[in-house]
Amino acid sequence: MTRISPEGASPAMAQWFALKAENPEALLFFRMGDFYELFFDDAVTAAAALDIALTARGSHASEPIAMCGVPVAAAPAYLARLIRRGFRVAVAEQTETPSRGRPASKGPLARAVVRLVTPGTLTEDELLEPGRSNLLLALVQGAAAGRGRRGKDGARPEQAWLGAAWIDVSTGLFETARLAPRALPALLARLDPAEILASPGLELGDYAMRLAPERALPPADTARQRLAAAFGVASMEAFGTFSDEETLAAAQAVDYVRRTQAGQMPRLAHPVPQNDGGVLSIDPATRASLDILRARDGGAEHTLFAALDRTVSAAGARQLAEWLASPLTQVARIADRQAGWLWLKDEPVRTQSLRDALKKAPDMARALGRLSVGRGQPRDLAAIRDGLLAAREAAAALAGGQAALPEILQKAVRCLGGAEGLKVLLGSALAEHMPARLDDGGVVAPGYDPELDEHRALRDDSRRLIAELQAEYGARYGMASLKIRHHAQLGYVMEVPVGAATRLKDRAELILRQGTASTARFVTEELASLDACITQAADRAAQREKALFAGLVASILAEADLPAVAQALAVVDVLQSCAALAAGGTWCCPRVTDDTAFRLEGCRHPVVEAALPAGARFTPNGCDLAPEYRIMLLTGPNMAGKSTFLRQTALAVILAQAGFPVAADRAHIGIVDQLFSRVGASDDLARGRSTFMVEMTETAAILNQAGPRSLVVVDEIGRGTATLDGLAIAWSVLEALHSTVRCRAIFATHFHELGRLVDTLPRLCLHTMAVREWQGQIVFLHEVLAGTAKKSWGVHVARLAGVPAGVVDRAGRLLRELERAENTIPEPLPLFDTHKVIPTEAENTLKQRLMDIDPDTLTPRGALDLLYELCKEA
Ligand code: ADP
Repeated sequence: MTRISPEGASPAMAQWFALKAENPEALLFFRMGDFYELFFDDAVTAAAALDIALTARGSHASEPIAMCGVPVAAAPAYLARLIRRGFRVAVAEQTETPSRGRPASKGPLARAVVRLVTPGTLTEDELLEPGRSNLLLALVQGAAAGRGRRGKDGARPEQAWLGAAWIDVSTGLFETARLAPRALPALLARLDPAEILASPGLELGDYAMRLAPERALPPADTARQRLAAAFGVASMEAFGTFSDEETLAAAQAVDYVRRTQAGQMPRLAHPVPQNDGGVLSIDPATRASLDILRARDGGAEHTLFAALDRTVSAAGARQLAEWLASPLTQVARIADRQAGWLWLKDEPVRTQSLRDALKKAPDMARALGRLSVGRGQPRDLAAIRDGLLAAREAAAALAGGQAALPEILQKAVRCLGGAEGLKVLLGSALAEHMPARLDDGGVVAPGYDPELDEHRALRDDSRRLIAELQAEYGARYGMASLKIRHHAQLGYVMEVPVGAATRLKDRAELILRQGTASTARFVTEELASLDACITQAADRAAQREKALFAGLVASILAEADLPAVAQALAVVDVLQSCAALAAGGTWCCPRVTDDTAFRLEGCRHPVVEAALPAGARFTPNGCDLAPEYRIMLLTGPNMAGKSTFLRQTALAVILAQAGFPVAADRAHIGIVDQLFSRVGASDDLARGRSTFMVEMTETAAILNQAGPRSLVVVDEIGRGTATLDGLAIAWSVLEALHSTVRCRAIFATHFHELGRLVDTLPRLCLHTMAVREWQGQIVFLHEVLAGTAKKSWGVHVARLAGVPAGVVDRAGRLLRELERAENTIPEPLPLFDTHKVIPTEAENTLKQRLMDIDPDTLTPRGALDLLYELCKEA
């Protein structure tokens, strides 16, 4: 922003300069009457972003002041647009009400920034997506450990840890983690934060767009104390163990939130440190290739989430998205979720009642979020009341089933019964139908507060008297058309047509007031005193109601059980969603074990299946990556269904480990700790990296990070370079996955030659996509069979794609010639010469023995014994 000196500014503009200086990173919405006005560069930026008129108002330093404005009543829609475009907005309100007779010499009305609206700290429904969390993420880089020293193996000294803390202000969620810098991209992809506070120099990739202005960090001890104070505990130990980095990140997030709410602290759950070991690691490239929550086209339609979601509440949808984004790695926790939905599936009647109850539950978590920052409306109180009622109904639906309730549902039932006192209080205090705004009155139920009832009675009584007076005046002055109306400035007035007014001019008790062209207005002493009575009673009623409202809000905020009730509603919604899915008969409950088993039967890709045209049937496929055949080499032409098969296998792991049903007849999955999926074109031309460079970078990431418990599904490694280069790379990557990484993997390729590796790699199995040739055309059967593809069918696929017939025919002839030529080459490609080096018998035996070793199951003692034995044999 161009620096403009505040010198010589008018008093109102001087105020603007002062507030702007406090919030330089935000557009300043400066309240003037019924408008929020923006000035100078703010005005230019906002007018362009909102497509509204840019005008000028007065001048400053001999230049006209650029200005634009939005009506206060329409502000939420404009705010939403600005926030979506990544702007921050500081809202400055008049903190003084204009009173009649206030001398102009007192200067402009006092104003203060009452809120900083930023993408990561929203609470309004208009600004939020109902089914998605809205996270603010703080990242702090700790000091590097062991700087300058090298490990025994000469490895680089350990890098500094990162502290991460994320908050959803709209629901109060607050979690932290400590992670290695290389895990940052995965965390960003998992959380998809709306706004980020980060130490300078952190590589945020595309997320750099969401960076918030930098803020200074306090020392760790101060941060610890400040956090403990914010949560009213003596020490953060009460909530778990937090590293210095996590504490700093948490404190930074809390400070920022407090600042955006102008000092008011929203109600947050206490921070929960996340043990990273408990979550399946999915790196960003994998997430991007699998369309879990968002599709590659950016939409939400063709996603795993959409294929899975049968939740009936927004809170349930958020919970489902959260579980889907972070599948688990502990068998017991997965089994816990499975037991929950299996019980519901076996109790369809109870589950239907549960669903009916959940549909009535408003979004309690978000209502609570708004109430805690003083932005609550009457409907938020109603949301808490109705949510508590729905929670009771949900708990009742779960009672008395055939089988005992599994633990997860027992816990939910306990939580759903919480906050009983508050439920009773709100039940008696709140009117059945809530007004939109507190100022409209009618929030508190009659009979709850005698004082309020008294003011209301007086007000309503006087209104009745006015109605009587109208009839009486009509009779007294002989005018049926006489009306008594309320007028904003004059109060209650008697109105008669102008023509009739002359008949009343001698009446001393009538005082003439300003009328309109067609009506004359009179007041009487009687009317004036009734008016005063009504105004007074109405004022008192409104004041009393406001005080009662504040009291009810305080009771809600003081109720410690509420977040647990809201969370339990969300959890049972996710579980019923799983039960609904499984009840259809085409999704199964997977067996999840703590080993490296892997077997899917009749597995489908739920998103591709849903998108098939009417009449088309999805062909289910099995996938067996049993320990003895844990690497699958998959060949087959383009369009045969390879990518779909790779993706559905990866999705099955995500579903199973999130505790959800899997789109298969049967599934058995040994816990996967890291999932790598490289499927589909990945180019990053925007960042100046070629397709091949991206492919190799991603391959490097897999080979450096994957381990024996990982699952890797890769498509066409080595396609982006010359054939021999590509083949050589694909070959060595396959060998490394097989013998060094020792993970479970599916390796899809066009290099049929790789099939020969089955002779040297004992854990390799060969599969191919079935195709049939029919009258010179290719027919895709989408079936995965044992074996390798006989040919590539590229020329046929080219014909299918509409390449002109002349070109396709010529390609066909060339191919035949090339094949003939290759067959006349006496020796195979030099690359395959390795096969010709015949190993000795002893070498073969030794190699086989090495291959048979499963280091994961060996004790240290066993390993040593084996080593001695092998040395002897060699
Ligand atoms: P490839 O990766 O071999 O080029 P894809 O997996 O992209 O092939 O599949 C191409 C198309 O074939 C998909 O868009 C889908 O419409 C269809 N398809 C794939 N797998 C199946 C299947 N198992 N059953 C039915 N149709 C399928």
